[in-house]
Order: sequence, then C-alpha cells, then structure tokens
Amino acid sequence: MSETIKKIGVLTSGGDAPGMNAGIRSVVRTCAFHNIECVGIVQGYQGMIRGEFIPMDARSVKGIINKGGTILKTARSKDFMTKEGRKVAYDQLKKEGVDALVVIGGDGSFTGAMVFSAEYDMPVMGIPGTIDNDIFGTTHTLGYDTALNTVVEVIDKIRDTASSHDRLFFVEVMGRDAGHIALNVGVAGGAEEVLIPEENLGLDRLLESLHRSKASGKSSSIVVVAEGDKIGKNVFELKDYVDEHMSEYEVRVSVLGHMQRGGSPSCFDRVLASRMGVKAVESLLEGKSNFMVGLLNDVMSLTPLEQAIKGQSKINLELLRVSDIMTT
Ligand code: ATP
Repeated sequence: MSETIKKIGVLTSGGDAPGMNAGIRSVVRTCAFHNIECVGIVQGYQGMIRGEFIPMDARSVKGIINKGGTILKTARSKDFMTKEGRKVAYDQLKKEGVDALVVIGGDGSFTGAMVFSAEYDMPVMGIPGTIDNDIFGTTHTLGYDTALNTVVEVIDKIRDTASSHDRLFFVEVMGRDAGHIALNVGVAGGAEEVLIPEENLGLDRLLESLHRSKASGKSSSIVVVAEGDKIGKNVFELKDYVDEHMSEYEVRVSVLGHMQRGGSPSCFDRVLASRMGVKAVESLLEGKSNFMVGLLNDVMSLTPLEQAIKGQSKINLELLRVSDIMTT
C-alpha cells in the first residue's frame, strides 16, 4: 500500500448518469476502510479550480446509493481546458492536501485527468460514468443499465398507444456516437427497426421493412432511432419521409431526451459502482495511475486512460443479427 497517498479527492464530471452517487459512496467508504481521508470536489473540475472541497467520511454518504444524479454536482469546465486554470486547480488541491484523484465521468473528463496528471504528477484513476456506454475498456459504463431499463419501460407504454391507434412511432433515444442503447432497447422492446450510428440501413431498406411488416399483418410499429443514426436525418425528417412514401401508416415521433439520464440506479449499476469504487481506490493505493476501471468478462480490469479514450467501443454484431431475426 502507498505511503504517500493520505487523501483522495473524488469528483463527477461531464454528463450525469445514474450510479454516480453509488460510485462516490464506494470511493468514500473504501478510503475510510483503508484509513485514508477523502474529499468530495463540487462541480467537477470547475469546483477544483474554485477550491470547493467537502470532507467526506463513511457516514456522509449514507442514503445515496439509490439516488440518481450526483450529490457532488457535475459541470463542464472551460477554465480547466487552459494551463492557467489547471495551475489554479493544482494549487487548490495542494492547499487541501489532496494526493490523488478519482474522476467519475466520460472520455472528455478522462482526457482532462490525463493532461492534468502529466503536468502535475498527480495520480488519477477513472470510473466510466455515462449512459451511452461508448467507452472502450468496459462492457458497461455506470448508468447504462439503468437507462436501458428506463427506455424499455417507456417503449412498452408507447406500444400501448401505437397498437390502440394503429400508429407507427419513431422513438429517438440517446447515443450520438454509439447505438448500444438503441440496439438493446430495440430488441427488448420489440422494435420493427433500429437505426444506429454504426450502420447505414438506408431509407429504402427502412421503407421496405415497414411495407413488409404491414403486409405481414402488423398494424402498428415502433422504430428506435439513436440520436446519431447514420441515415443522417433527424427523427422529424424521417417521419416526413415515411409520411410521404407510406400513406397506410399514421406516423408519430417521441423524443425521449433527458429523462433517460434520470432515476434511481438499477441493481446492476449499484453493484457495478460499488465494485468500481473499490478497485479505483485500491489501485491508487497500490501506486497505479492513469487507468480507467472497467468490467471485462465480469472481472474488474484496468485499461490505460489513453486507450480508454482512443479505443472504439464496439456494437454487438450478434445482437444486431438477433434484432434482424426478431423483426421477421
Ligand atoms: P459525457 O460523455 O457525458 O459528455 P465527458 O466526460 O466526455 O462526459 P466533456 O464535457 O467532454 O464530458 O468533458 C468534461 C470536462 O473535462 C470538460 O468540461 C473539461 O473541463 C475537461 N476536459 C475535457 N477535455 C479536456 C482537455 N483536452 N484538457 C483539459 N480538460 C479537458
């Protein structure tokens, strides 16, 4: 165990995700377990620059494992992108006596952590927290499983109205760069088609599939569209296109938006966050730095931050095929 790390700072940065609180709780309690001090840093890197630190002990994180969002708040900090901003942040950390950092966030937050650690020799460990699951080095990011469950619940509700009115619904879900959410909820929610950033099905194929579905006796359909789908049309343009080419359907659009980020974390995310927090703190105490904690083959693993940032999280091709077969 490291003799040099006596106080660890934990922060949440970038977009919030369910499970961040469970991650904070785990970091704080693992510090307490190893008799290390812990401080929470408010509003990510912005709070670090302002010197907003909250001393945290095992009891200060009671009752948060089931809460969505992040009690430490999160932010995007322009100041931390500058050398001057990072110098102020470092001075604040030194004044507070912080020896190492756990950063819970996405790839942007990890880039900031890497730059900072290279400039100031500050040990850092990343915990992936984003609902999009678009980070290399882990099969699951914090919040992803909760978001899947939230979206499936909504799709089930949309199906009720779609089938009552014989409608076609385009449902837009989050995922600018990755179709993990769309593909999984598409299969779980029985969607007719799934449009994702990784694959260009084309508008013809979409129409063909909808015609086929109509001909096979289906009276309503749901098409799940990831924000960043390759067809390149937004969900309202897709509606207009189908309206123009298929008079037999009454088309509606539902953009799920930020509700996908909220809510109490699922059991899976709470367990994952607890495991990741322990691994992050204990890895720092073992003298490791510049890694992201991840789940690979159900084992807590470390991936260099640089790889986690640059690597591509791949869509599950087998699931893509299952999705195709299920729409037969
Ligand atoms: P999400 O996936 O939800 O968008 P993220 O962690 O990728 O989360 P970003 O807004 O990209 O979110 O990054 C969070 C913060 O990390 C930025 O506001 C900035 O303060 C810091 N950051 C990002 N890139 C850099 C960089 N190159 N140098 C220094 N800091 C950076």
